[in-house]
Amino acid sequence: MAFVLEALPYAENALEPYISANTISFHYGKHHRAYVDNLNKLIAGTKFENMSLEEIIKEAYGKAEYTGIFNNAAQAWNHAFFWKSMSAGDKTVPAELKAKIERDFGSYDKFCEAFLEVAVSQFGSGWAWLVEDKDGKLSVLKTSNADTPIAHGLKPLTTVDVWEHAYYLDYQNRRADFVKTFIINLMKFNA
Ligand code: MN
Repeated sequence: MAFVLEALPYAENALEPYISANTISFHYGKHHRAYVDNLNKLIAGTKFENMSLEEIIKEAYGKAEYTGIFNNAAQAWNHAFFWKSMSAGDKTVPAELKAKIERDFGSYDKFCEAFLEVAVSQFGSGWAWLVEDKDGKLSVLKTSNADTPIAHGLKPLTTVDVWEHAYYLDYQNRRADFVKTFIINLMKFNA
C-alpha cells in the first residue's frame, strides 16, 4: 500500500510573511513529495511494503543496505510533522506542557534559547527538536540529514527543518533569523 502525501494543514500562503508561499510550494510540493514518491518506489515488493512509516524508520535505521529507505521514510515523517509544528494562529502553549518546559529548562525563555542553540549549531542539513523521553523528561536535540527522534524511541513535540531548502528563498544564509522567526511567530506544539 503506497504512502500518500498528506495535505498541508493550512494554505501555502498561511505562514506569510514569515515563510513565503513560494518556499512552501517548493518545500512541500517538490521536496516533501519527492521523499514520499521515492519511498514508495524503494519499498515496492519488499518486506517494508505493508509497514507503517514509524515501523519502516525503526527497521531500516542503521542498516547500510536500507539507507535509501531510511532517508526517504524519515524525511517523509519529519516533513509531515514539521508542517504540524507551525501555525500562523494561536500561539498559546498548553498549560501542562508549559509546566513541563519550566520544570526541565527553568523557564520558557531558557527553552527557546536552548532550541535556538541546537538549531543554529547543527552543522549542515538537519533538524532541531523538542522531545519527550519515556520517563516524560523534555530535552532539545539536533539531528543530521534525515535522522529523526522516531528512530531513537523519543516522542517529538515540535521541530524546525534547518536544511537550506527550508529557508534559503526567504532568508538566504541567515539560518538564525529563520529559526528566531520560527520560535517567536510559528512554533506549535504537538503534545
Ligand atoms: Mn525539508
